[in-house]
Amino acid sequence: MELVVNHNPSQKIISKIKVKRDDRQNIQKPLPHFIYVQTKYIFVTGGVMSGLGKGVTTSSIAKLLQLANQKVSCVKIDPYLNYDAGTMNPIAHGEVFVTEDGGECDMDIGNYERFLNQNIPKNHNITTAQVYSTVIEAERKGAYLGACVQIIPHITDEIKNRIRKIAKDEELDFLIVECGGTVGDIESLPFLEALRQIRVEDGLKNVIFVHVTLAPSLDVVGEQKTKPTQHSVQELRRIGIQPDFLAVRCTHPLEEKTKKKIALFTNVAFDDVLSCHDTKSIFEVPQILYDQGILDSIFTKFGKVGMVNASANWDEWNKIAKSMINHKDQKVKIAMVGKYVTLADSYVSVNHALKHAGGKLAKSVDIDWIDSESITDFNKFSNYDGILVPGGFGTRGSEGIIKTANYAREKNIPYLGICFGFQLAAISFGRNVLNLEDVNSTEIKPDAKNPVVDLLPEQKDVSNMGGSLRLGNHEITIKPETMAQKIYGSNLIRKRHRHRYEINTIYIPEFEKHGMIFSAESDKGKRMEILEIPDHKFYLGVQFHPEFNSRPGFSEEAFVSFVKAAAS
Ligand code: GLN
Repeated sequence: MELVVNHNPSQKIISKIKVKRDDRQNIQKPLPHFIYVQTKYIFVTGGVMSGLGKGVTTSSIAKLLQLANQKVSCVKIDPYLNYDAGTMNPIAHGEVFVTEDGGECDMDIGNYERFLNQNIPKNHNITTAQVYSTVIEAERKGAYLGACVQIIPHITDEIKNRIRKIAKDEELDFLIVECGGTVGDIESLPFLEALRQIRVEDGLKNVIFVHVTLAPSLDVVGEQKTKPTQHSVQELRRIGIQPDFLAVRCTHPLEEKTKKKIALFTNVAFDDVLSCHDTKSIFEVPQILYDQGILDSIFTKFGKVGMVNASANWDEWNKIAKSMINHKDQKVKIAMVGKYVTLADSYVSVNHALKHAGGKLAKSVDIDWIDSESITDFNKFSNYDGILVPGGFGTRGSEGIIKTANYAREKNIPYLGICFGFQLAAISFGRNVLNLEDVNSTEIKPDAKNPVVDLLPEQKDVSNMGGSLRLGNHEITIKPETMAQKIYGSNLIRKRHRHRYEINTIYIPEFEKHGMIFSAESDKGKRMEILEIPDHKFYLGVQFHPEFNSRPGFSEEAFVSFVKAAAS
């Protein structure tokens, strides 16, 4: 860590300067200031259009700094008016990522966790609603009495406070802050203004900006076009931000003449115009950036003299990145059945978790997304090695999933049901093995005769939809001598949750008599967490979300066992 003497508000006190004592008579007074460590900030902004991979750029820069032994973390700013991502449709906005501390966050937080192999707390996802709520609440309490409360300085100060608090509390060397949206959006203006102010207040040696843009190649001419990048940097400069780096997305490596042109028109040094061309795997991006000298350039800009020419410690990461590249001959075909199948990002963590498991087992996992609403012929599942039903909400498509879970059970096809997929597997068992009448979840049919899945008791009086599910990490006890215990190799695990309904425990004795075992529970037996059918090749349902714990090189156990069963 670098030590500097400064009074800047974003710097944290490390220790008081030690008083030097030459002899007993000559006791010096302590110096009037403290030694601080300044967190270096890297702000990542987006240009041209959405979907360019700002999250991957942010994660990759963070990864490189981590590989160079720096203490890093990432923050995602989402300028929308939702308080968090919890109430947003995954089809429109991608998956809701759940943090250990129960945050319902933007899916980029998942990218950060996977790249850094590090838990990210929920306060690292800052939204407009959170910032405004704090300011408005303070205004009502009279905190600004007499003042006219305004976007500048009150909203921008709150944004700066939130960022600086994270840097200070976590004693970070580097904090990478990704600002969602595209420069020019009205919504993101207060955030970009706050980031600009941090650069003014903390100085050029402590803050740099990376702008992610696009250099499209038009098929007819095949030339890489620079105008979108030029315009987007102009837009950024209009609001007072000169980027230090450009991460330019392109299909093929950026040509020298394209780079030169971009550098000339954007005032960014030639070497800091970085090619972010398409790769087979996102885990190759850190290496691509490193090869272009980003690490040295970052350290030089921050005046970290001793760190220039620092190399990244690639040993472990390269092994992991390589294991994630397809193993051509050993394919495992998985059918993923749900209702949010039109956008791959809706289940991004599940997709990753399957790939991590494939990486560990040296298999290539092919995933087909199947819309549960439109299945007419269930025999098509006989072409798959395994069936996975991820989380979900609501009535639409649920009947298709219940029948899918039954098909997997009857045909001995490996089945992994997550959350909704766990609940609907129990319903299918109640209907088809216990032959109970009108079995359902009260989420789907509130007056079902046999509510095998019912509202959590503490949810009965909940009226707010946002932030009111059972969220985050909870301790789970696994019964001995079960498949679950074999999978996890332990009787106690902690996993992330996101649900409002649960298994109705009055049905358990009947279920277990007929061969479906509830092998794990939480809250002293109040809630069921895992179901399994011991006579089946692999039939497992989990109330929690194992996908959020899976990381490259550190696959989640249930996914590994599922892919292994599917491959055998
Ligand atoms: N809809 C179900 C519940 O609320 C399952 C939730 C999920 O799959 N995340 O309990």
